[in-house]
Amino acid sequence: MGLSKTIWTNPSEFLKHSQPDNPVMFFSPGVLHATARRFLDGFPGLVTYAVKSNPDEIVIANLAAAGIRGFDVASPEEIALLRRLAPEAALHYNNPVRARSEIRAAVEMSVKSWSVDSRSELAKLIELVPAEDCEISVRFKLPVQGAAYNFGAKFGATAEEAVELLRMAANAGFIPSLTFHPGTQCTDPAAWETYIHSAAQIAREAGVTIARLNVGGGFPSHRLDDVMPQIEATFALIDRATGEAFVDSRPALVCEPGRGLVAEAFSLAARVKAIRDGAHVFLNDGVYGALAELPMIGIIDRIEVLSTEGQRRHGDTVPRIVFGPTCDSVDRLPGEIALPGDMAEEDYLLFHGMGAYSMATNTRFNGFGALSLVTVLALQH
Ligand SMILES: *Cc1c(COP(=O)(O)O)cnc(C)c1O
Repeated sequence: MGLSKTIWTNPSEFLKHSQPDNPVMFFSPGVLHATARRFLDGFPGLVTYAVKSNPDEIVIANLAAAGIRGFDVASPEEIALLRRLAPEAALHYNNPVRARSEIRAAVEMSVKSWSVDSRSELAKLIELVPAEDCEISVRFKLPVQGAAYNFGAKFGATAEEAVELLRMAANAGFIPSLTFHPGTQCTDPAAWETYIHSAAQIAREAGVTIARLNVGGGFPSHRLDDVMPQIEATFALIDRATGEAFVDSRPALVCEPGRGLVAEAFSLAARVKAIRDGAHVFLNDGVYGALAELPMIGIIDRIEVLSTEGQRRHGDTVPRIVFGPTCDSVDRLPGEIALPGDMAEEDYLLFHGMGAYSMATNTRFNGFGALSLVTVLALQH
């Protein structure tokens, strides 16, 4: 990805000056630092960053500078990236299924915290990882709703299995902990409360005092104009529920947000290639590009339309079907999107809150998606 050397005032200034024909991701380090501060000040425990949501070096470097001291990593490549960019950081290898070669590579790079959700994978860890000063967090799942995307479909032991795994990890000499992920873009804080009470129940049944409880990622980002995520209220609920559930054996808390930390720091500009016969809008980016997540998680409706002069369009909105640039018919944004009626060919659509699962999952399918990164002081004007 090309990195511009200049810092621009805002997206409008850059778009007006450069008239880019490829999609542009605008990054505000100030917004990323402010979001990191919000988590560091508000969360009652250790804040780690889930690297997969946006592994760009500029993100890692800025989060480390902002005071994030731990990272959730899922592969030897992510571990090596973090060892290079933030050598002192705590690395939590919380992908519960690993090849033996991956376990060996992570031991080599001094990983001291691992998650697990099955007996077969725990047996591999016990065989290959020296237990001393090393944490194993048993990942469990519950049949609860509340998130945009169900993580429990792939990972997580049942509560019953978790009791057994926790005991086995403790007996093998590891520091025993528990972890869960309520599902990404989890807009129902009550999901955390349910999980925390189950964690306490699992620890009690196992007869194990857990060192830490990792309450996952899942903290929602601001996607819909009129729905503001209640992050501080969720922190307060996590704090209270942990005290109530564990009473005098309260574990230290860890969280591992991806989306919640990084989404707000980036806005995506996609250009209108055509408005076909005055109806369907064709953009130069779509679901094979930085908008990959929208069909799964739902639309981001925080969209500004800017003219080639960088002026915001204010016309009455018209519902539009919006397509991406590839020749694949699934390359369409979900639903119909309300866009200003005075929008014209070559205008830019500026999508806010686009920092997570966008740059990382961009493909170059059909020759599109040559995304560049531009640093700005502010994402709004
Ligand atoms: C993806 C992932 C996260 C981050 O999830 P968000 O919904 O982006 O906050 C955290 N922990 C684990 C184990 C993950 O796989």
